[in-house]
Amino acid sequence: MEEKTKIICTSCPRGCIITVTHVGKEIKEINGYTCKRGVIYAKDEFILPKRVLTSTVRISCGELPMLPVRTESAIPKNKIIECVKKICEIDVKAPVKLGQVICKNICNTNVDLIASRDIHKVV
Ligand code: SF4
Repeated sequence: MEEKTKIICTSCPRGCIITVTHVGKEIKEINGYTCKRGVIYAKDEFILPKRVLTSTVRISCGELPMLPVRTESAIPKNKIIECVKKICEIDVKAPVKLGQVICKNICNTNVDLIASRDIHKVV
C-alpha cells in the first residue's frame, strides 16, 4: 500500500515541503521540490537521515572544564545515541587545537569527532 511522507528540505531557506510517495522503503514518486537539490535531500533523508552531532567532552588542565566538539560531517541519525554515549566516556588533556581529532571513526561511522575550538593549557 502506498504511503506519503512529508520532508522539509533544509538545503536552503525556502524550506520546500517535499512529499515522498513510497511502498515500504521503496520510493515511487517525489513531489513538492523546487530544484534538484530537494530531490537529493528528500531521497537521503528518507533512506538514511544524517545529522552533524555537536557536544562537549571533559578536558583537564585547560582554561575551560569542557571542550566543544562536533562530528566532521553528518552521521546516520540512528548512530547518534551510541555516539553520545561514547562522547560521555571521553577525557582529553589540554592543550587542544581547533579541528584536532578527538575520536577517530567514532562508533564506526567513518567520521571523526573533532574539536570545535582551541583550549589552552593552564599552568
Ligand atoms: S528544494 Fe531547492 S528551493 Fe526548495 S528548499 Fe530545497 S534547495 Fe531550496
